[in-house]
Amino acid sequence: MNFSEIINELGEDRENYFRAVAPPIVQTSNFAFKKVDDMMNALSDEGSSYLYSRGINPTVDILRKKLAALDEAEDCLVFNSGAAAIFAGILANVKAGDHIVSVKAPYTWAQRMFDVILPRFQVTTSYIEGGSLDNWKAATKENTSFYYLESPNSWDFAIQPIEEIAAIAKQKGIVTLIDNSYCTPLYQRPIPMGIDLSMQTATKYIGGHSDVLGGVLSGSSAMIKKIFDSEYLNIGSGIQPFNAWLLIRGLRTLPARIERITRSTAEVVAFMKQHPQVDTLLFPHDPGFPQYELAKKQMKGACGLFTFSLKNKGRQSIVKFCESLKHVLMAVSWGGHESLVIPKCAGMKASDFDDSNESHHYIRMYVGLEEPEYLINDLNQALASLD
Ligand SMILES: *Cc1c(COP(=O)(O)O)cnc(C)c1O
Repeated sequence: MNFSEIINELGEDRENYFRAVAPPIVQTSNFAFKKVDDMMNALSDEGSSYLYSRGINPTVDILRKKLAALDEAEDCLVFNSGAAAIFAGILANVKAGDHIVSVKAPYTWAQRMFDVILPRFQVTTSYIEGGSLDNWKAATKENTSFYYLESPNSWDFAIQPIEEIAAIAKQKGIVTLIDNSYCTPLYQRPIPMGIDLSMQTATKYIGGHSDVLGGVLSGSSAMIKKIFDSEYLNIGSGIQPFNAWLLIRGLRTLPARIERITRSTAEVVAFMKQHPQVDTLLFPHDPGFPQYELAKKQMKGACGLFTFSLKNKGRQSIVKFCESLKHVLMAVSWGGHESLVIPKCAGMKASDFDDSNESHHYIRMYVGLEEPEYLINDLNQALASLD
């Protein structure tokens, strides 16, 4: 189905609500029944009809249909955050004694789950450089039941050959989950590439205005039903109707925003690359990117995030640069209207900063919806402060 049709029409039933263009927010916890048998059926399968909004809700359903279609998946679930989607997707597919293979340095809260929560249940994780198929094969053990991918990574944009990894996993009966937050389904659709569960945070590009959290987990009907019936209902981490409505609103302009951000990012990256104060610059669709060929093959586009380091080494320069910016904000997250920077060194104690560790020098920038010149001027004056 065409993106425009998915975004503007799929799941909407305007004749049922006064032909309103924007759908209603069905802000209810409960749904009432006239017949005992209808209530009995709803109670026996919460996914089949409206009973209680921890399960299904009409506003959330509209969003759910759209997001599944964008992912080319049979179905999806929408959670209250991306972290909740990751949690449910993993928990539903491992049991005590299992082993997981994960890309190294995955998203913070995925890593926290592997390192802190799952070991309590005797589930162990091996981290690998995920770009090489041999690493996946070598790390796979008898009890490996789960592969965790994040392509690209949201700091250094390391990518994995998705189709090839999915094929290996299928052969061995291993479940695959990918964090597709960087690309969104507009630039990469892992489900048709053979991945079992495609996760994205909706907090970033889908919401698009830094005012709502959400997360998506897409997959086959059977896989999604399994997660709905246990983790989704049991943890109660489904998205609330008002937040679902905000995400439907965000989706309406997603392609336009992504197109704009793609163009602006190219301009900002070009400016940064030629600046004498900028040392390394990492951006997946830059010809100098280490995995450029694979990035071009796998991802229809790249935008928003890039990472760089300064020629003037040391924590002092990073602090000076970040604090000299007048318009670009310093904050976590990305995908909203506003441009952001985050220095890697903000995630560690000053005494742990290691000058010889290249990644400690990283500054990640997110390019939002502002005029590129406005951003470039701001970056230029902050870089000049280092001379
Ligand atoms: C933000 C983010 C998440 C988590 O999403 P939340 O909605 O913040 O819970 C997961 N993966 C990546 C790559 C992210 O950037």
